[in-house]
Amino acid sequence: MPTKYGKGTKTCRRCRNHRGVIMSYGLNYCRRCFREVAPSVGFKKYM
Ligand SMILES: [Zn+2]
Repeated sequence: MPTKYGKGTKTCRRCRNHRGVIMSYGLNYCRRCFREVAPSVGFKKYM
């Protein structure tokens, strides 16, 4: 059952955290990582 990685797995692609992962906009970052990468991807207005 290869379900650790792949489509449908809601984990942060940066730290593999699965809590508070933001799936919107195809970011797939958890909230913590999102705050770090948001400025570089133009989402700083959301934080
Ligand atoms: Zn993360």
